[in-house]
Amino acid sequence: MTKELEKLTIKTAAEEFKNRRLKATELVNFYLQKIQRLNPKINAYNTVLEKEALEQAAESDKRFEEGKSKGLLDGMPIALKDNISLEGVKTTASSKILANYLPVYDASVVSKLKAAGAIILGKTNLDEFAMGSSTETSFWGPTKNPFDRERVSGGSSGGSAAAVAGGMALGALGSDTGGSIRQPASFCGVVGFKPTYGAVSRYGLLAMASSLDQIGPIAKTAEDAEIMFETISGQDPKDSTSIKSEILNPKSLPRRQAGETNSKFEIQNIKIGVSKEYFGQGLNPEVRRIVEKAIDGFGRLGAEIQEISLPNQKYALSCYYIIMPVEVASNLARYDGIKYGYSEIRNPKSETRNLLEIYIKTRSEGFGKETKRRILLGTYASSAGYVDQYYNQAQRVRALVKKDFDEAFSEVDFLMGPVSPEVAFKIGAKSDPLTMYLSDIYTIAVNLAGLPAISVPAGFSSLNQKNPTPGVGLNGLPVGLQIIGPQFGDLEVLNLAKIYEGERDGLSSASIS
Ligand code: GLN
Repeated sequence: MTKELEKLTIKTAAEEFKNRRLKATELVNFYLQKIQRLNPKINAYNTVLEKEALEQAAESDKRFEEGKSKGLLDGMPIALKDNISLEGVKTTASSKILANYLPVYDASVVSKLKAAGAIILGKTNLDEFAMGSSTETSFWGPTKNPFDRERVSGGSSGGSAAAVAGGMALGALGSDTGGSIRQPASFCGVVGFKPTYGAVSRYGLLAMASSLDQIGPIAKTAEDAEIMFETISGQDPKDSTSIKSEILNPKSLPRRQAGETNSKFEIQNIKIGVSKEYFGQGLNPEVRRIVEKAIDGFGRLGAEIQEISLPNQKYALSCYYIIMPVEVASNLARYDGIKYGYSEIRNPKSETRNLLEIYIKTRSEGFGKETKRRILLGTYASSAGYVDQYYNQAQRVRALVKKDFDEAFSEVDFLMGPVSPEVAFKIGAKSDPLTMYLSDIYTIAVNLAGLPAISVPAGFSSLNQKNPTPGVGLNGLPVGLQIIGPQFGDLEVLNLAKIYEGERDGLSSASIS
């Protein structure tokens, strides 16, 4: 049974629940035991909610007994990134400054998950305030990659991706400001979906950069990601940037109907754009090989593959590293030792007497190095005298990056390329910030333009085969394929990812022969 439980997805577990072959309590117990065993080695969770999860599971079982199930997510063990507010439960953003912070309300996505009967297993590790690509900036230490524990799980939603990949959650929520759902999903061999900006409410997400942040699902399959997305998306009066679900209704593209099998016919109707800017210098040859093979596979299924140019893509990283820190500096101003969290006021040895000193000492102690770097950068780039040269200029560049995509999507239905230029790197390997920032080169433009994009596992690099770590990583390290869609094309992106999953095994064996 253990083996079978391990294989379940949200979709298949829902079938088991429905047919009363499995109880939520059994499934949750299985996951809690797995967490107990594996989490000390992986460090995916900051907080585990054992008692609460079992209570919720019992309630779910009761609903099934009474024939009052709340739908596909009822009884499903789900993990939450630790920057998503959960009422009464520590929500730390993996920062010392919020190490003991207890939100007084649920994020809207949490209310929706709860209303759907999902069971919250715990809060997962991230880079401090979601700033990073490896979870190494977490106050709680890095999350290790379940495929090779000497390597990072990616970031910033590394804990969520590692929890799903390591069988410690059936699904998880992450947040993506510049790649933080897709890159860890790619590094951990799971599916990670970043929705169109506004498709999911940000109410209750501890803000990093508000014009870029978006919550999304991390799951074992695109089908599961879709189930989670459909539950958490929709307009929310508490987030004025959120959009109505109806806007996401696919109009233009052929969609697979429920129950219909993957059909080549539909793929024949689509055009896929491949941008040479996504296959530039610094792309690991193994990642290139796997991603090109996946795209060729779509071609063999009948899709039209077209080369596309995104000429302003090369400015995306610099543009992001102006706009994002300016928003970070503004958003993080609230952590001043007065309103929230860690405070110099509570330091018994403090000799601080005035307000300014309280601010300075609280923030110097409470924030980590990377967070401080970004606050300083953002303050500088938006200060009088520099704002035109940096921030306003970056906003103009952002419009150009968006225009590139608009033009591309007037010709093609989707864009495809790598998620990250490399596979999961060794913990500690990227000590200088610029090298770390470069790891987001293929994901950031999507956030600047507010588009939906997914990382779907496309294969394993053979790099590790020569030198496998005993017991882990024997098949190499996972590599994700990125599928980008036009604004509001969320369901189409998920649909294409589902079709790809259905065909993937056939495609890789075909290309080996
Ligand atoms: N790695 C990127 C950064 O450090 C993106 C982070 C994110 O998406 N939250 O800013």
